[in-house]
Amino acid sequence: MLLCKIINRNFVVLSQVKTSTRAISAVRKLSTKNDGVENFKGKYDIIIAGGGMVGCTLACALGKNKVLSNLKILLLEGSPNKKYELKEEYSNRVVALNPSTKALMSSLDVWMHVENARLQPVRHMQVWDACSDAIISFNSTDFLDDDLAYIVENDLLQHSINTELSKVQNVHIVYGAKIADYELSKTQPDSYDCTGSKVKMSNGDTYSCQLLIGADGANSSVRKAIGAQYLAWNYDQMGVVATLHLAEETENTTAWQRFLPTGPVALLPLDSRRSSLVWSTTHEQAKQLLKLPDEQFVDSLNDALWKQYPRSSSVDACTSWVSSWLQRVGLPSGAARQLPPSVRNIAANSRAAFPLGFGHSTRYVAPGVALVGDAAHRVHPLAGQGVNLGFGDVKDLTELLANTLYSGLDLTHPTWLERYESLRQRHNVPTQLAIDALHRLYTVDSPPLVLLRSIGLQITNAIHPVKKMIMSHATT
Ligand SMILES: Cc1cc2nc3c(=O)[nH]c(=O)nc-3n(C[C@H](O)[C@H](O)[C@H](O)COP(=O)(O)OP(=O)(O)OC[C@H]3O[C@@H](n4cnc5c(N)ncnc54)[C@H](O)[C@@H]3O)c2cc1C
Repeated sequence: MLLCKIINRNFVVLSQVKTSTRAISAVRKLSTKNDGVENFKGKYDIIIAGGGMVGCTLACALGKNKVLSNLKILLLEGSPNKKYELKEEYSNRVVALNPSTKALMSSLDVWMHVENARLQPVRHMQVWDACSDAIISFNSTDFLDDDLAYIVENDLLQHSINTELSKVQNVHIVYGAKIADYELSKTQPDSYDCTGSKVKMSNGDTYSCQLLIGADGANSSVRKAIGAQYLAWNYDQMGVVATLHLAEETENTTAWQRFLPTGPVALLPLDSRRSSLVWSTTHEQAKQLLKLPDEQFVDSLNDALWKQYPRSSSVDACTSWVSSWLQRVGLPSGAARQLPPSVRNIAANSRAAFPLGFGHSTRYVAPGVALVGDAAHRVHPLAGQGVNLGFGDVKDLTELLANTLYSGLDLTHPTWLERYESLRQRHNVPTQLAIDALHRLYTVDSPPLVLLRSIGLQITNAIHPVKKMIMSHATT
């Protein structure tokens, strides 16, 4: 009986492998024909438009997946292939990567390149309100077996991904690729088969593919081509970034964020003496901050971290009442407030500013097309989630596609595309809405709203399961 079961199971697996090989070889046959188009450069199973952090990770994940390793993949990146060199001074663009991203990068052998170069773990996080005494803090030991996050320079991460990508045989990369237009896949009547998409380049070259993936950032042309509705707004804010030299040497594994009425100012640890700044503020203040001499910039930043803002006495009275009530019922009445570091100076020419906005594509898929990363969703950097959401897309898309081919279905079968969309939107949309709500709640200084958010923060800080739930959502 047991023997029969084993034979039966092996037969099912073998027939699935056979069907999946058949599905791939059907695609492969298509790859040899010329379409009769002038400057036709070849047929691919998958084309990824956009080779930023998300597009390159996707190419690497697809290329390294055993079930997908027979697919012919093309990655088109608009900018040239930049040489990377690890410099003594940190780059001003960094990302906070969560443990799920670390797990994905480890599975692709990317993480070891980052670790061998440099990263800084975040083991403690303190977020506080400039308009009241409300504060929330997170310690890695309270929630996870891992660190809360890791601060990594964007270009180091990109370089580490590219190092592994260059070892993948079935991914062809074209840098400096200027995409002019897309002719998108159509479904055949009464079948799930797609006609395939054409990608037209500005130099006249044309590529075609079964599956087109848009990883082309917040202004995605793939998203525009599929005609997806895009819910988007610009925050009236810029994110001012810089590399900071701290006044004192410490272990520096705390991420600090203070909510000012003009937007949050955050210090992300880089090493024992340096941190990276993300200061979200009004366009006018951002412009001024970029123009200031270094010393005055540092004074303004220390003010933003330390200055006492005008406070409402009734808000203070209510928050102190809530604090003593929490104490009476045996809950933590307030986090042990730590003092943020003082900034001594900034790295030369490290100041820059980026516009901040929200974006949600109502569709992540269309026949033979999928969107990943900022092409599908864009968030305010206040929660350090943007690219982590994109890496979550990469993980789910790769797994769903591999399962689809393994079970003998086609590369563009709508079942997996729809599953991808619903799975990702169920994670991404609540995260986006929560970040947007936080942004709105903290850019006002009217006392009733300050009171509401301060009590909310005090209670959240006091109830461990709620903090745990927030942390678990932010780290997966
Ligand atoms: C100040 C700031 C701080 C941030 N901090 C964090 C953080 O701490 N944690 C976090 O998770 N996220 C953070 N983010 C968000 C994060 O930077 C983005 O989510 C991430 O860069 C998106 O990556 P992506 O690959 O999807 O898109 P992009 O980085 O925009 O890459 C898109 C790529 O597509 C290419 N491209 C576009 N159009 C075409 C075309 N037509 N043809 C060919 N190529 C094309 C572009 O050249 C680019 O390389 C921050 C953002 C900002 C602004």
